[in-house]
Amino acid sequence: MMVKKLLSAVVPCYNEESALPLFYTAFCRVTEQLSELSFELIFVDDGSSDQTLQEMRALAEKDSRVRYLSFSRNFGKEAALYAGLQAARGDYVAVMDVDLQDPPELLVDMYRSLTQEGVDCVATRRVTRKGEPPIRSFFARMFYWLINRISKAEIVDGARDFRLMTRQVVDAILSISEYNRFSKGIFGWVGFRTKWLEYENVERAAGTTKWSFWKLLVYSLDGIVAFSTAPLAIASVIGFLFCIVGFITLCIIIMKTLIFGDPVSGWPSLACLIVFIGGLQLFCIGILGQYLSKTYLETKRRPIYILKEQGGQQMEDMQR
Ligand code: UDP
Ligand code: MG
Repeated sequence: MMVKKLLSAVVPCYNEESALPLFYTAFCRVTEQLSELSFELIFVDDGSSDQTLQEMRALAEKDSRVRYLSFSRNFGKEAALYAGLQAARGDYVAVMDVDLQDPPELLVDMYRSLTQEGVDCVATRRVTRKGEPPIRSFFARMFYWLINRISKAEIVDGARDFRLMTRQVVDAILSISEYNRFSKGIFGWVGFRTKWLEYENVERAAGTTKWSFWKLLVYSLDGIVAFSTAPLAIASVIGFLFCIVGFITLCIIIMKTLIFGDPVSGWPSLACLIVFIGGLQLFCIGILGQYLSKTYLETKRRPIYILKEQGGQQMEDMQR
């Protein structure tokens, strides 16, 4: 008998009690279509405060393909992805959201592309941002435009975290054990041949989004700091330019005073200049501070997540 290849799906969940059963049903339909594979579903409970963990326990009880990990508190989606990838044992590993915004049906196409086209990874990007506030879309576009100009890792606009990877790619991602994890950047940074599937944005099936505007803004700044040192260079360039401007104006003022003998005038312009340059200096020190704080957190070598509970049939097999 031919041994079936294993596909693991890693699904981070944070307060998703309403979406979890819907996801499970949709996922089961996909497993029926891909009968040449065996499956494992790894749910990662990211410190939910609702009934998410109970739902997971119930699913694991019912279906031996389901395993779950539960964190001691909310560590964020990036940490949940990392934990899930560590736990996954599949020859192929998919990463997807539980809210059905990453349609599980796409897995069928993704798997076919992966095996038939000789790529290492099939990723998805949404071509529309339908159903999203316009201001949020605007800032998202700006962010992708900016980060692709200042970073070496390719970060595709509209790219979702939803992707199917071979074991080789997963191992490469796991070898990056940094604390400040920006998955979109890490996926691009490890390289490998990636095929992009495009699809229309789907709205959440149930529950609410966990991302406020501020959380997204902080996340994107983290992404820039994690994948580019350009802001540091920009700070130095601005400093240098201001030195030149300062020197030129100094020369002009000396010449003027020598020729016209008109030493004191224009304190408002001076006050404005002091405030402007002071602000600029603080801004640049702030940039430096961002990098310093990330270095500080990184040197502490704290674990990326803390596990409180894990379960599911296969998890028990592993422990035995
Ligand atoms: N998520 C998580 N931890 C968090 C926030 C979100 O594990 O701190 C999970 C969430 O349960 C979902 C996925 O990450 O499966 C994407 O979150 P969401 O749908 O809220 O983001 P959006 O699709 O709105 O960008
Ligand atoms: Mg979502």
